[in-house]
Amino acid sequence: MHAQERFNKAIKEKISDKDFRSRMGIVLNKLSSNQERGMQTFANLPLAKQRAAYTKWKVAENLDKYLVDFEGSVIRKGGKVLWAYDAQNALAEIDAIIKRTQATKIVKSKSDICNEIGLVQHLRKGNAKITETDFGDYLIDLIGDKPFHSNLPALNQKAELVGSILNTKIKSSLEANQEEWASDIRAEIRHHFYEADIGITGANFLIADTGSVALTENEGNVRLSFAFAKTHIIVASIDKILPSINDLELFFSLLSTHASGQQLATYNTIVNPGNRDDKEGPSEFIVILLDNGRSNILATQDQRQALSCIKCGACSNVCPVYNIAGGNATYQSYRGGPIGQLLAPLQQGIQEYQYLSNLSTICGKCTDVCPVNIDLHNHLLRNRHEAVAQGLEKTGEKLAWYTWKKFMLSRKALNRPAALKNFTFKQFYKSEWGDKREFPKIAEKSFNQLWREKNGL
Ligand code: SF4
Repeated sequence: MHAQERFNKAIKEKISDKDFRSRMGIVLNKLSSNQERGMQTFANLPLAKQRAAYTKWKVAENLDKYLVDFEGSVIRKGGKVLWAYDAQNALAEIDAIIKRTQATKIVKSKSDICNEIGLVQHLRKGNAKITETDFGDYLIDLIGDKPFHSNLPALNQKAELVGSILNTKIKSSLEANQEEWASDIRAEIRHHFYEADIGITGANFLIADTGSVALTENEGNVRLSFAFAKTHIIVASIDKILPSINDLELFFSLLSTHASGQQLATYNTIVNPGNRDDKEGPSEFIVILLDNGRSNILATQDQRQALSCIKCGACSNVCPVYNIAGGNATYQSYRGGPIGQLLAPLQQGIQEYQYLSNLSTICGKCTDVCPVNIDLHNHLLRNRHEAVAQGLEKTGEKLAWYTWKKFMLSRKALNRPAALKNFTFKQFYKSEWGDKREFPKIAEKSFNQLWREKNGL
């Protein structure tokens, strides 16, 4: 089934689920007000955003140089960098590492990039056992669902379902509260950290001048994922680069304030390859640098700003469409929300994913909150223009606009009886409008008719 057909099916279910919508409204509103609070901690937020946007612009304009600098810095310190053109390439590299190290146990922390390449599903086909260590991802894995939100994967799960799943799978008490669930999960996961042969993490930032990987989190599971394992694999996309370790101060705080409202996340770790002769920590530090269509975005000069994203999730939380569509899985792409809608057509192909660019009211809220000043709503418009330029609109859509234009340019048609106009519009737009909303009624008389009446003409 085409991605858009899957989306149409999923969205119909979501918008008719009143309970789901009201829970989403509450949760996303809370996230947005946390962000508001976080943003107020900056003495001069516009300046901070401008500086961050400039740094990311510099990175995008000189990405080839910074990536090579990063690779050089990692190698000098004893680490390894592997370049992966696409998801298959990245998975093949990880398979080869597992085979070479004869690893049987793997722990993984939350990572959008690992979701993008389908890492867990892929590794589950092999012999090594992989354990999710992020609370949300762990729950989602037990429930058998997909991550809902980039930062809070299990945000949409009902408490009753979580309680009963944890009771069945890890013997949590049915009366347990959220804190007790967290402590039960922690106890359940702990031994996996000690026993893991390989720890797989993502990266929030890759630092070109020091070859470091910067990670920020609130649970502490990310640093534990590579604390005991002999091999640390970092799967990161090429756009994660920051030129210097000095940039971290700004980016760590912009990320945490816009993601959760905290001035700084609880755990902020800078990992270096280093010399591991002290037998502590991983002896192997391997960064897999994933392209997966990002070079295509880099090639479109007017859209390359999309690569500046630091994945704070703020744009999703304020998006009126995301509030209704509810979650990444509905969008049928590895990421939802405004940035996901912008990236998927550019990265995975406009033919398959151009429908995502239309899921926006173009209200511009996403652009307002973005900490790196990505002009999200205008980029979505650019995607729409591109789709039209490539003739990718559906025949029904073309016909509907053709008829609309004809109608609006005809005085005779505009003055037809309201009942006839209502009937005609309904026929044209009812499939797009859906059966859950009442179709807007056209006024009984046109402006022209009212004006003529008023002036006795
Ligand atoms: S586009 Fe901006 S607001 Fe949205 S996730 Fe990325 S950095 Fe955050």
